[in-house]
Amino acid sequence: MPVPVPTEATRWRCTLCGNLTRFDVTRSSRVVEFVHLDLAGESRVEERQVLSETVESVRCRWCNAVDQVELVDRPGAAETAAAQEAAGRPGGESAGGAPQG
Ligand SMILES: [Zn+2]
Repeated sequence: MPVPVPTEATRWRCTLCGNLTRFDVTRSSRVVEFVHLDLAGESRVEERQVLSETVESVRCRWCNAVDQVELVDRPGAAETAAAQEAAGRPGGESAGGAPQG
């Protein structure tokens, strides 16, 4: 069963115990990292561009149920959704370029 991905208006809720806040997320992602090394050879990732990202499974930290999550509205989601529609946000592809993390 595919895991539903939360949006800006929705969040995960464990269907078994009602947990809203603690999950172990297994995620596969394809990223480009700008690795900056100092002269001693210590490396630091200074930029990370996510090319693609897939949530493979979500496990509830409370009851250990795997992939038993549903999407529920976040508090105040109605206002957020309305604001997004007003801004003409189509969803899906992002414009890109925004730094992440
Ligand atoms: Zn649970």
